[in-house]
Amino acid sequence: MSVLVILEQRPGQNGASEWNPMSFETLAAGQQIAHELGIPVQAAVAAGPGSQSLAAGLADKKLDRAWLVEHPLLSQYTPDAYVVAFRQLIEKTNPTVVLFPHTYQVRDFAPRLATALGRVLVADIVGHKIDSGQLVCVRQLFQGKINADIRFSGDAPHFASVQAGAFLSDQVETGSAAVETFTPVLNSAQICTKPLDRFRESANGVDLSSAECIVAVGRGIGDAENMEIVEKLAGVLGAELAASRPICDNGWLPMDRQVGSSGQTVAPKLYIAVGISGAIQHLVGMKGAKTVVAINKDAEAPIFEAAQYGIVGDLFQVVPALVEEIKKAKG
Ligand SMILES: Cc1cc2nc3c(=O)[nH]c(=O)nc-3n(C[C@H](O)[C@H](O)[C@H](O)COP(=O)(O)OP(=O)(O)OC[C@H]3O[C@@H](n4cnc5c(N)ncnc54)[C@H](O)[C@@H]3O)c2cc1C
Repeated sequence: MSVLVILEQRPGQNGASEWNPMSFETLAAGQQIAHELGIPVQAAVAAGPGSQSLAAGLADKKLDRAWLVEHPLLSQYTPDAYVVAFRQLIEKTNPTVVLFPHTYQVRDFAPRLATALGRVLVADIVGHKIDSGQLVCVRQLFQGKINADIRFSGDAPHFASVQAGAFLSDQVETGSAAVETFTPVLNSAQICTKPLDRFRESANGVDLSSAECIVAVGRGIGDAENMEIVEKLAGVLGAELAASRPICDNGWLPMDRQVGSSGQTVAPKLYIAVGISGAIQHLVGMKGAKTVVAINKDAEAPIFEAAQYGIVGDLFQVVPALVEEIKKAKG
C-alpha cells in the first residue's frame, strides 16, 4: 500500500533534463494524501540513461522510495514506452493510488496506462477528501460551476491526475529519499509511435503553465493596435503575455496564449488581469495564481472577487502609470 507519484521531466535548453514544475505540485498532493491515508509515498520519473540530475532532485524530498525508471528507449517520450515501463513499475510496487500532474504528456499516456491495467483515470482533480479511509477525488464539472466528489470502486491501484495550481509546490516536504534505478524490459518493437518535434519547441511556443508572472489582457483593450500597452507592462515585469478568449479569437494573440477552460491552466506567482471581466471559463484557468491583480473600469466585474488587489479604473490610464512606476522602482 502506497501512493505513487509519477513526475514529469522534459529536455531542457542545454540538453539536460529539467522538471516540469507541475511535478512538484503533484508530489505535494501525493505526500498529503499518503499522510492522511497513513501509507508510504513513492515517486518515479522516466528518463534515458545518464539522468543523474533527476535523481538528485528526488533525493532531498521526503519520500519512502524514489524510482528513476531508466532505459535508452525512454530518452525520447513515446506513450508506448511510458505505458510499458510504468506498468512494470506499478506491478512491482503495487501502489494504492497513482498520481500524475495533468500535463499534455500525461493526457496522452496515462489513460492508456490505466486502461492497460483495467482501471479508470480520474482526470484533472482539484482537491481530495478521505472518507472512511478511502480517497475521494474532487473534480470540477460544467466549466467549474460544480465540484463533484468521485469515489473509486473496484481494486487498487486508483489513478488520478492533478490540475495545475490545485496544490502548491512549495508545500512539498523535504527530507531524504533513497533513489533506486528501475530498468524496465522494453524493446523497440513495442514502440509504434514515431516522435516528432515537441509542440512547445516550436519557435513561438509558450509554456504558460510554468510562467511565474503573467499579464493577461481581455476585451477591455478594445483594439489590436492597443496591445502595445500591455506588452510594455509584460516587458517591464519580465512576464508572459496571456489573454482571455476573445483576444485569441480575434487573432490579437496566438491561441496558445489563451487562459481558461478551453485554453491553458496557469498557476503563476503573479497574475495581472487587464480589462478582463472574470467569466467562469476564464477564472477556471487562472484560479491557481497565488496573487491576482485586476484592473477594470467596472467595480462590479466578477474578476475582483478572484483578486487580492483591485484597481478600478481605465486601463489606458492605469497601465502606462504602472509601467512608469515599475521602471522607477527598478531604477
Ligand atoms: C465553451 C466555452 C469555453 C470558453 N473558454 C474560454 C476560455 O478558455 N478563456 C476565456 O477567457 N474565455 C472563455 N470563454 C468565453 C467567456 O465566457 C467570456 O466570454 C470571456 O472570458 C470574456 O472575455 P473578457 O473578459 O476579455 O471580455 P468581456 O467579458 O467583454 O470583459 C471585458 C472587461 O473589460 C472591462 N473594460 C472595458 N474597457 C475597459 C477599460 N478601458 N479599462 C478597464 N477595463 C475595461 C469591462 O468592464 C469588462 O469587465 C468560453 C466560453 C464558452 C461558452
